[in-house]
Amino acid sequence: MSNGNNRQVIRAEIKYPILAIVVLAAIFAFTSFALGYDQGQLFSIVVGDRAYEENFLHELFHDTRHALGFPCH
Ligand SMILES: [Zn+2]
Repeated sequence: MSNGNNRQVIRAEIKYPILAIVVLAAIFAFTSFALGYDQGQLFSIVVGDRAYEENFLHELFHDTRHALGFPCH
């Protein structure tokens, strides 16, 4: 029968590599921008001003933006 005095506490020390944190943060930032805020900026690097007219990523993620509450239009 336990009287409550024989508790054992195990503390685990987990260390995450700083490089993994930096890479995941960069992926998070890039994806958040592409999904939530891009108005043609990303594709304009490749196709120029035409990207601002086509607004491909905006149209692709439009419903997702509304569902997540990003400001859209
Ligand atoms: Zn919208």
